[in-house]
Amino acid sequence: MKQLTILGSTGSIGVNTLDVVRRNKERFSIYALVAGNNVEAFAEQILEFRPRVAVLARQEGVKRLQEQLSRRGLPKSRWPELGWGTEAMVQASVASEVHVVMSSIVGVAGLEATYEAVRRGKTLGLANKEALVAAGALVMEAVRQSGAEILPVDSEHNGAHQCLRAGRRQDVRKLILTASGGPFRNTPASDLNSVTPEQALQHPTWRMGPRITIDSATLMNKGFEVIEACWLFGFRPTEVEVVVHPQSKVHAMIEYNDGSVIAQICATDMRMPIQYALTYPDRWDAPVPRLDWRQSMRWEFEAPDYEKFPLLRLAFEAMQTGGTATATLNAADEVAVEAFLKGQISFPAIAQVVADTLETVPVRRPRSIGEVLEVDLESREAARLACRRRAGQMRLAGIPASSVSSAPTPDPPAPSTPSTPPYNRAS
Ligand code: NDP
Repeated sequence: MKQLTILGSTGSIGVNTLDVVRRNKERFSIYALVAGNNVEAFAEQILEFRPRVAVLARQEGVKRLQEQLSRRGLPKSRWPELGWGTEAMVQASVASEVHVVMSSIVGVAGLEATYEAVRRGKTLGLANKEALVAAGALVMEAVRQSGAEILPVDSEHNGAHQCLRAGRRQDVRKLILTASGGPFRNTPASDLNSVTPEQALQHPTWRMGPRITIDSATLMNKGFEVIEACWLFGFRPTEVEVVVHPQSKVHAMIEYNDGSVIAQICATDMRMPIQYALTYPDRWDAPVPRLDWRQSMRWEFEAPDYEKFPLLRLAFEAMQTGGTATATLNAADEVAVEAFLKGQISFPAIAQVVADTLETVPVRRPRSIGEVLEVDLESREAARLACRRRAGQMRLAGIPASSVSSAPTPDPPAPSTPSTPPYNRAS
């Protein structure tokens, strides 16, 4: 029986992970669940999965959770050990009972727990992007020292992990990551100035939270994936190629020295890479749709437009620069996306704010996660200033806020435990 800790159990990846657990109860049990704010969904998960430990982001959340558990009639004697904050998350990840940690908190909030799990040699299912984008050197050094295994959950990296099993690492020429191209693949660059958050949130193939949806529209998400792939598999940025594949069926390809290309193909259901990470090297039956090869299909592949989507280029450059440049890239992007969603800056200004911030914040070689988090804060501050400058320029240019957002600021991500879990994913 494998015991799991799920960081971010109420999110899209967390819910899908629990579905895999639910279908394989004789093989997995939950040691700890960790979540942020969604106390109602968290209480339901506690009732169903009976973790030993349950951790929330804040102390006030624990109070609300206690009320929820009482309301649901769970006697106090059967409550899990309740905790809150970073230290409790770290404890939930490093406990000796835990075999696998699923890292699926969004943002840098889960960075310390993820890093400590790796340092203690836990097997890590990695969905969270920030761990490698912001602190790749430290995390991979910890892997080298502890012998921990990282099994990627993001479908492109999961695909690459599978393709790499077809040959020897020294025989690999390059990695090809696919991108759906987002909602503006066919939009002329000159029209991007006037796109609204509502349009940018209409992803052609995936249902996801706002930040990752906008990151897919700007191709920043693919840039993050390039950075993650370099750390995970030891590629130089020049050995990673991005290809737009609007059908999102091929997730990654590995080209070997002899010109042979191995592709990983799967329907878009996150339970496949999640289950792969939990069962590796075994492959169990998974409840994912199968491709019907009797149907005729057309799949397209084309080069991305680096002029129209400069964030993809900036990601390659930040990875080349190294140090904290990628942490700054991530922090600036998060701030800029938020400003775009609030109608404060235009869609192209997201890339401008990120570029401005990268120019402003000095690059450091961090020796600890604490230093990475300091740079993260510094970069957010610089990005907020850059947003204000860009917003001022928009006003001077006479661009009304209504052309940026024709509707009120979109709500934050919808609660992540709908009755039909969003099995599809970001690309
Ligand atoms: P969601 O927004 O759906 O879920 C985020 C989770 O993190 C929730 O459980 C949330 O809790 C929790 N959380 C947020 N802040 C805190 C905090 N301070 N302390 C503890 N928990 C916190 O995100 P996704 O599941 O979509 O994505 C998670 C990560 O995986 C991201 O980094 C994303 O980029 C990556 N990823 C996602 C993919 C996908 O298909 N969704 C694919 C590949 C990578 P609560 O809801 O209770 O507030």
